[in-house]
This record gives sequence, C-alpha cells and structure tokens, in this order.
Amino acid sequence: MKHSGISPRPAGGRIERGVKVARVAVRARRLRLAGRAAAAAFDALVPAACVGCRRGVAPDGPPLCALCRSRLPRLANPRCPRCAQPLGNIAAAAGELVRCGTCEEWPDVLVAAAAPFCFEGLAARTVRALKYGRWRSLAPWMAARMAPGAEAVASRIGGGAPWLVPVPLTPARRRERGFNQAGELARALADLGVGPLGLFLDRRPGGGRQAGVRGALRRANVQGRFLVRAGLPDGCRSAIIVDDVLTTGATAIACAETLAEAGFRSVATVSFARTLRPLDGDESPTGALRP
Ligand SMILES: [Zn+2]
Ligand SMILES: [Zn+2]
Repeated sequence: MKHSGISPRPAGGRIERGVKVARVAVRARRLRLAGRAAAAAFDALVPAACVGCRRGVAPDGPPLCALCRSRLPRLANPRCPRCAQPLGNIAAAAGELVRCGTCEEWPDVLVAAAAPFCFEGLAARTVRALKYGRWRSLAPWMAARMAPGAEAVASRIGGGAPWLVPVPLTPARRRERGFNQAGELARALADLGVGPLGLFLDRRPGGGRQAGVRGALRRANVQGRFLVRAGLPDGCRSAIIVDDVLTTGATAIACAETLAEAGFRSVATVSFARTLRPLDGDESPTGALRP
C-alpha cells in the first residue's frame, strides 16, 4: 500500500492543526519566493533611472548619468589633515597645511577622516536614495568612490588592513529600514579589498534621531549608545568606522571611544559625504577660497 506520510484523517485535532500550520507555512514560503522572483523580473523590465535627474541609465552602468556625476560636489582642497574639512581661507592665510580647529575635540584615538563629497546637492540626494529610498544597489557604486580615501587613511593609521566597522543602527531602526546603509557600504568596501568587514558594534535603543539635530545634542544622543559585541577577534588594533555621512563627528567619536575601550589603538572614519562646518576667519561654510 502506498503511504503518503500524512494520514488522510488524523486521529487527533492537534495533528490536523499541525498539518494545516505546515501547509500554511509552505504556501507562505511559495508566495515569498514568487514575490522575490516578481521583484527581480520587475527590476529587469523597468529601465534604470539616474539618481540625480531620473533620465534613463544603463541597468549595468553607474546609477548616476555622466552629467550628474560631473556635478557631484567634491570636497575642496586643501583639507584638514585630520577631519578632511576644506580649509579655504585659513590655509591660504597660513600658507601651509594647518588643522581646521573644529576637530580639536576629537579623542586621540580618532586620527583621520576621509570623504569624497560635501553633503549637499546630488551627493545628499544619493545618500537619501540609499537610506530612505532603500536603493541598496547604490552602495557598491558609492563605496567605489569612498575606496581611494579609505585606502589613504588605512595607510596612515597603520596596523595592517584595518577592520571596516559600520556604524550600527538600533535593532528597531534596522527592522524598520530593512537594512543598515552603513553596513552595505562597509560590505562593499570589504568586497573592494580595503579591509575585512568587522561587524563589531551594536547600538543600544534610545537616543534621539541624529538627522536635523545639532552640536551638543548630537553628542548627547550618541554618548554611551554603542557597545562592542562579544567575541572580538584577537589583535584588533586599527579600524575604519564606515558611515554614509559625517556631520559633526559625534557618532564617529562615540564609536571610536567604544572601540578604544575594547583595545583598538587607531581609528579613522570614512563616509560618502561630510557636512562643512564654519571655520574661524571664514564665515562661508563652503570651504571655497575667497579674495
Ligand atoms: Zn542624471
Ligand atoms: Zn579638522
């Protein structure tokens, strides 16, 4: 006699319920798989659009068209050797490489920062498309723009290839967004060979949103919010904190101090963009040289 494995008339209600639950689970899994296949098919059918101007771009090419790429706001040179803030008139007046003064509050362990772009215009739009538009396929392209700066700071902090440590989200924010944009960037930088991915930090719930918050409140928001996961590999000495945007540095400082407590000696931070801060003697925060 052929045996189906499932009795057509289970003796008990519990078994029947169990079979129903299993069937529902199988149906849900099939629906999920069908949903993913439909999404992939949709992506293949819909022409890719430029992040900046929405004109069509090749699906396997850069996510910004050539014109928008040429308009990305690059950070001006010369920059502060520590925090990458464009120095504008200060450097011109001094006639030599000077520090900007806004990074004096940084802890000793945080030695360098790099970012290719200012957080404005098309660079800001690209960051928002990744973070809020959930345009995850942007991350590898953004990371490729960050890689030269990451390699430059890696050679400055020493200790071999640094661990790439993404700024973590709280578990609730991660669930809400579905992914961590900093994690996507760090993973893509690791894929480019900058260093190994180090998912070492967690973020405690609480603390307000950083978006739109300034100065001391930003620092208070992140103070004591990060902790190192158990099982840190031996010999962790240098790290690059990876984030999408460097604003006041409050988040990078809090992460660097947490890593220092766990034994890291030298930490840098790399982001896709950074905000510009007003400098003494230069009321324009653009960092542009003025007569
Ligand atoms: Zn465009
Ligand atoms: Zn500086």
